[in-house]
Amino acid sequence: MAKNATTMDKLVSLCKRRGFVYQSSEIYGGLSSAWDYGPLGVELKKNIQNVWWKEMTQMHDNIVGLDAAILMHPRVWEASGHVENFTDPLVDCKECKTRFRADHLDPEALEAKKCPECGGELTEPRQFNLMFQTHMGAVADANTAVYLRPETAQGIFVNFKNVLQSSRVKIPFGIAQVGKAFRNEITTKNFIFRTCEFEQMEMQFFVKPGEDDKWFDYWREQRWAYYTEKLGVNPEKIRWHQHGPDELAHYAKDAYDIEFEFPFGFSELEGVHNRTDFDLSRHSEYTGKEINYLEEETKERYIPYVVETSAGLTRSVLMILSDAYEEEDLGVDGKGRPDIRTVMRFHPNLAPITVAVFPLVKKDGLAELARSIEEELRDDFATFYDQSGAIGRRYRRQDEIGTPFCITVDYDTKEDKTVTLRFRDSMEQVRIGIDELVPTIKKAIKNYKRV
Ligand code: ATP
Repeated sequence: MAKNATTMDKLVSLCKRRGFVYQSSEIYGGLSSAWDYGPLGVELKKNIQNVWWKEMTQMHDNIVGLDAAILMHPRVWEASGHVENFTDPLVDCKECKTRFRADHLDPEALEAKKCPECGGELTEPRQFNLMFQTHMGAVADANTAVYLRPETAQGIFVNFKNVLQSSRVKIPFGIAQVGKAFRNEITTKNFIFRTCEFEQMEMQFFVKPGEDDKWFDYWREQRWAYYTEKLGVNPEKIRWHQHGPDELAHYAKDAYDIEFEFPFGFSELEGVHNRTDFDLSRHSEYTGKEINYLEEETKERYIPYVVETSAGLTRSVLMILSDAYEEEDLGVDGKGRPDIRTVMRFHPNLAPITVAVFPLVKKDGLAELARSIEEELRDDFATFYDQSGAIGRRYRRQDEIGTPFCITVDYDTKEDKTVTLRFRDSMEQVRIGIDELVPTIKKAIKNYKRV
């Protein structure tokens, strides 16, 4: 526990120091549970999103994309069941005033009404709706109330007919979306794990009723392979958790979570849900419009079932950060001091910077030469140029932010047009021609296996 707690503290501190994640509005004392993504964090987040998007839309010819608005007609949330059911049980400690989600408390502590922080008395649980309400227009009254969407999924359901009519998709097919969602979470701790504003990557797959179980299994397999193969996550750090009857959401027939072993323990990363025909049926009922599907061949008309894969993007950032973080013991340095290398072992497809280029020294035209090599590489990779400090320190700075490849330009480069290419994970250095850089790095990315 102590080691894991330390890892979390170290991660948070590295994220701030190197520009991955900052506390929101920090100069005003911060806003709890809201975080800003800095120059490296925004690249990491975008890269994760791009891998997911490619995996979902480009690798499947029957999945199309969508980007729906955050603000939706308020009736959507009545139909979806969120107004009525999207609640968490809340308890307060009468002494220390700490607020807990009752379902996250140890059942014995809840039964005994004893606060796990101070031992004080807990209140009875009361239901608390997680949706953020705001108002559209100048007057704030009941008629202008709207919600910030608590999930991206409903934007897909309300556009089901639009997509069907405009893109000639046929069942089975999916609609994928990445975007912000908002939940007024009772407890927000563990950095960016649970926040009030976050991003989701969701895909709703529409299938013929009766074929839902088959597709549910298919998508479970696909999603497992995505984490282990595409993102290179250590398979020992992820596991399945099937929802018991008391955990199932109001719309779900079956649900499995993929859990990741965060520094604070195994917790949900993604849900794979069989949402049945619940959402489309409810929107049909609430709008009075028939939201269904006509099968051309059989002329059969039905309301499709939905298999959903719902992953947190911001939560995936935390997963990738925690999975990548490593302190490597390299023995002792030249001065006899313990040499610990902090290295982020990001998959090269996710690393904020792919290639860093350094001149060995600034003078004698090496800086200009290194700069020109870096500029040449920009078409193919996310690059970074650094000319300050000892070369060993420059390597370590890149290790700490997970840059998989570094190139050093020296005096020989001027003569024979070769450079030193250094690999982050093995720290191996090879001498190669400038014109071989792009194919060599591309091959290394394609064949990347984490050590
Ligand atoms: P929990 O039970 O932890 O509150 P949930 O089961 O309600 O989560 P879903 O509604 O299934 O979560 O949301 C799908 C995904 O969206 C989650 O697996 C998670 O990755 C992400 N997510 C949900 N809530 C948050 C949040 N408050 N902050 C960050 N990510 C979230």
